[in-house]
Amino acid sequence: MKVGEFEAPAAPHGAAGGLIDGIGRRFEYLRLSVTDVCNFRCTYCLPDGYKKPCNRPSELSVDEVRRVVTAFAKLGLWKVRLTGGEPTLRRDFEEIARTVAQVPGIRRVAMTTNGYRLAERTVQWRAAGISAINISVDSLDPARFAEITGHDRLKQVFSGIDAAQGAGFDSIKLNAVLMRGVNDTELEAMIDFVSSRDLSLRFIEVMRTNDNAEFFAKRHVAGQSVIDRLQVLGWSRLPRQPGAGPAVEFGHQQAKGRIGIIAPYSKDFCATCNRLRMSSLGKLHLCLFGDAGIDLRPLLQSDDAQAELVERVRKLTSTKAPAHRLHQGNSGATPHLASIGG
Ligand code: SAM
Ligand code: SF4
Repeated sequence: MKVGEFEAPAAPHGAAGGLIDGIGRRFEYLRLSVTDVCNFRCTYCLPDGYKKPCNRPSELSVDEVRRVVTAFAKLGLWKVRLTGGEPTLRRDFEEIARTVAQVPGIRRVAMTTNGYRLAERTVQWRAAGISAINISVDSLDPARFAEITGHDRLKQVFSGIDAAQGAGFDSIKLNAVLMRGVNDTELEAMIDFVSSRDLSLRFIEVMRTNDNAEFFAKRHVAGQSVIDRLQVLGWSRLPRQPGAGPAVEFGHQQAKGRIGIIAPYSKDFCATCNRLRMSSLGKLHLCLFGDAGIDLRPLLQSDDAQAELVERVRKLTSTKAPAHRLHQGNSGATPHLASIGG
């Protein structure tokens, strides 16, 4: 694994000319949710576990996924992240990964997982064409991990991380959501953990969604406080790589790993946004904190609708808002991040 991995520079764009919004941001990265279902009950996301709504339509099929990704690739996107809910709960997850990896123009397929099947399936995921993997690990303490996720599986997740390190991924990142009074006391232990390992760690600020306002008010920790601590410990900010997303990255001369901070409440967070999102029901979300998604599923029913789909995505993207409205107390219509892929 390369921890100092670069995001590939902008691909030469196809005939469609690239995907750019009204303020010139270029979109090269699609986060594709393949399911809302999750087996964990993370306190900040699905504290009561996943509850299937009545009459919920089926998730995008492999063919629909292929049409989505083909249309975005025609618009210059080259990176797709498979996420959820827990994406690996889909029985056809590996077929989805293989299909996405084979779409012309797609150069990187990544995934985000809670890690519960990592030890068992990581080699197959790599073989299916996934080259980058993010694993959520909110605590290094087994009891706290169980409290946060509802599952006493930290040991299993660690075995999965070892397996992933042996499987030849280009990038392995650990995601940790920092929560006041829950795991913020582990900040330095987590920093030490990646100092001695060839791994990247991302601290993510708790984000407010429609369902977790109270939790957010009680538990949110500002990313800046992590940055301040890192600087005291001798970590320094790394230059932004071309095509990199909104994470601010830090390195240390004596550390093997790297640390990134994802702080959506920080100033100018939206200026570097390079991603769009598609839900598992085929709705395009221009922003994580935007209004309800735009239903593109009717255009996913046949290959004949590709030209119309490409045009629709291009037009919709041009209307993307310059910034979220979190500072006005508006976190959009997303009930929880499991419904949109985080
Ligand atoms: N189930 C997978 C997992 O947990 O890695 C993938 C989906 S999950 C929605 C994607 C990422 O979003 C995870 O790293 C999770 O910790 C993060 N996340 C979920 N809800 C969040 C919230 N309210 N604030 C910040 N991060 C959140
Ligand atoms: Fe599931 Fe991921 Fe949400 Fe946790 S963060 S409940 S693992 S979707």
